[in-house]
Amino acid sequence: MPLNESSAQVYFDKDADLSVLDGKLVAVIGYGNQGRAQALNLRDSGLKVIIGNIEDEYREVALKDGFEVLSIAEACKADILMILLPDEIQAEIFNKDILPNLSENKVVDFATGYNIAFRDITGLNPPAFIDVVMIAPRMIGIGVRDTYVSGEGFFSFVGVWQDHSGSAKQILLALAKAVGTTKRGAIETTFEQEAHLDLFTEQVFGPAFGNVLRNSIKVLLEEGLYPPEAVMVEIYMSGEFSYGLKEMAEFGIVEQMDHHSPTSQYGSLSHGATFMDERLPELMRKGLKEIQSGKFAREWARVQRRGKDPLKPLKDAARNMPFIQTEKKVRENLKIKPKKDEFKRFRRITSE
Ligand code: NDP
Repeated sequence: MPLNESSAQVYFDKDADLSVLDGKLVAVIGYGNQGRAQALNLRDSGLKVIIGNIEDEYREVALKDGFEVLSIAEACKADILMILLPDEIQAEIFNKDILPNLSENKVVDFATGYNIAFRDITGLNPPAFIDVVMIAPRMIGIGVRDTYVSGEGFFSFVGVWQDHSGSAKQILLALAKAVGTTKRGAIETTFEQEAHLDLFTEQVFGPAFGNVLRNSIKVLLEEGLYPPEAVMVEIYMSGEFSYGLKEMAEFGIVEQMDHHSPTSQYGSLSHGATFMDERLPELMRKGLKEIQSGKFAREWARVQRRGKDPLKPLKDAARNMPFIQTEKKVRENLKIKPKKDEFKRFRRITSE
């Protein structure tokens, strides 16, 4: 199959003009992982930001952070609405609280293309009289904040879905600059491209990679020659492999090999072909087709409608996989404890 080699448009700080946001009020709707990070960044970039949130503990965090916090419906008085609610409830909240409060030329921003790309299934249909844009960070909330503070920035996918005002692109780029992504690189995509790539990583690349990892452990443990502590540290617990991924991003897939020993380089280069099984790209293409056709989005909507927690039985089954108990023992023997739950830290602390 031919490779797509046409470059995307990538935007940096120099491409954006913050003055297009002069006098605009921004409402961050949902003060969770992304909401808190993006609200703090936008405010530190000089924008006037209010929060729309339900009455919960995150409302208290937003108040302690010094924001004016309103109900979601009231916050829609702002000119620009950043929808940073969980994807599963966005359509319901949009239709109930946001839609009745929209007026001409307001701007609605999403942090993923999912609900718009699959709008026939999700039921989120923005009216024609507003601008609809997307800043989809390739970064968790803590990273969105930390890389803003450090000045490094983070990658994101950005796009305009609907340009009613004629200025949607300039507004999008200014918001992208204020939130800190044009410092690193904001890559232009459609909402569909963003949603498909995101789902592909979650349900094709991730599980395929996980399968390689688990099979490696299985083969080594079944051999009976190697202690589980050594096997698990070798394969993933040392963090050496994740360090290698960072090196790939920085130096390139081939060039980073120079940081490894000649034995390592020779072994992986000369034996790589053994595992190039043609069934893998075929299976991956099948997974991608299910995403593109909306088959997955329909399945996910159906599962959520059932009302029962869909994750519990899946997680229970995962916990029953071979060697998960062994992993638990290995972690105890190696005295591995998570340092802290970064997500909780980020949501609960009241000052940086
Ligand atoms: P969170 O799960 O952190 O929740 C966001 C906020 O929504 C919280 O304040 C939460 O409050 C509130 N909320 C939850 N349920 C309701 C409800 N029924 N009514 C009103 N408010 C509610 O979301 P994320 O920050 O993870 O995700 C936000 C968006 O960012 C999504 O579109 C996601 O796809 C996107 N995104 C997320 C990334 C990430 O790293 N998490 C990365 C890139 C994009 P409470 O907790 O009290 O329920």
